[in-house]
Amino acid sequence: MKILVLNCGSSSLKYQLIDMETETVITKGTYERIGMNNSFITIKQDEEKIRIEHPVKNHEKALKFVFEDILMGEKYGKINSLSEIDAIGHRIVHGGEKFSKAAIVTDEVIENIREVIPLAPLHNPAALLGIEACKSVVPNMPMVVVFDTAFHQTMPKESYMYPLPYDFYEKYKVRKYGFHGTSHRYVSQRVADILGKDIKDLKIITCHLGQGASICAIKDGKSVNTSMGLTPLGGIGMCARSGDLDPSVVTYLMENLKISSKEINDILNKQSGVLGISGVSADFRDVEAAKDEGNERAILAINMHNRIVAEYIARYMVSLQGLDVIVFTAGIGENQIRIRKGICDELKFLGVEIDDEKNNTRGEEIEISTQNSKIKVFVIPTDEEIMIARDTMNLIKK
Ligand code: ADP
Repeated sequence: MKILVLNCGSSSLKYQLIDMETETVITKGTYERIGMNNSFITIKQDEEKIRIEHPVKNHEKALKFVFEDILMGEKYGKINSLSEIDAIGHRIVHGGEKFSKAAIVTDEVIENIREVIPLAPLHNPAALLGIEACKSVVPNMPMVVVFDTAFHQTMPKESYMYPLPYDFYEKYKVRKYGFHGTSHRYVSQRVADILGKDIKDLKIITCHLGQGASICAIKDGKSVNTSMGLTPLGGIGMCARSGDLDPSVVTYLMENLKISSKEINDILNKQSGVLGISGVSADFRDVEAAKDEGNERAILAINMHNRIVAEYIARYMVSLQGLDVIVFTAGIGENQIRIRKGICDELKFLGVEIDDEKNNTRGEEIEISTQNSKIKVFVIPTDEEIMIARDTMNLIKK
């Protein structure tokens, strides 16, 4: 069985064709700058990276090119006919309260995704473009949607409610939803498998640290708390996002700088976090380099980041009533050796102990804590695509 996984952004389309027998990627690629006159696609297959300049007007044209000229194309083709692909799995950022698991695409499901656009104004419309493009280019292909929010629908009300007038929840669905659910689900299941334990017997905190970053507390295999909120801006400070603040900061700045909600949103989403504090970059590699040169704001940015992540871990031990294992994943979690070390050093008082030699690794599945550590610490590269493909396969098999 072959599943095509699609992840659509407003001007991008990422795909992976996965062989489900072996759970291996046959080919993958990213279309960028869709709708602009310099769109191009990068394909990765057979240990080769190929870039093709091919301007396209919209997602439908991009998808048509992917199917006809790449997947089934003469030069780069990996399949002979569409019938070799069993289904398409779409990544959807926001499923609101309607979706606690993946779903087969129907008109009603599309309508439900549309309804939560106000909660994900950048992401959900792009995903819908991808679904519509598939309906037009490959009309008979079964499709499944997998939501970033779904895994967190198991949070108890104590975790997901904000202390605001209750009406705002009932009328406007203002609550914490949480994101990166597919990633938190994958790495938590993977760590249980590596430990040879039933996930239900483990108390796990997963740290998805990428450009967007979130922490998740997992008990009985279920998310019981997570740091992102109504939108992916909440929780820990990130590469360029502020994370949680005293809400008065927002109104204070809007009033004093006389700026609109759009402008403050831009500041909080794109000019804050590690970038805002360091003034150097939103990429941790640059900020670490500046730290090594003694740049005080870079040092502060990294220290703040590590402190906040450690505080969230300690805080979520309340939700879990204990902790067996911490998992680091995503770009920073998988690759930034000193960030992992810095976070774990803040947790030494809990008996967390890192083996520096084991921690000296990038992008590898490995336990990095010492034998004596009271809490185990793992690095597990995330694989959201395989989860989407598995969910898709399981649903269409039914
Ligand atoms: P996204 O949320 O966009 O998927 P990523 O998970 O790729 O982001 O994380 C991006 C961040 O990960 C970068 O800012 C960088 O600090 C870090 N990163 C990614 N790859 C590496 C690497 N090979 N070495 C060190 N840091 C890396």
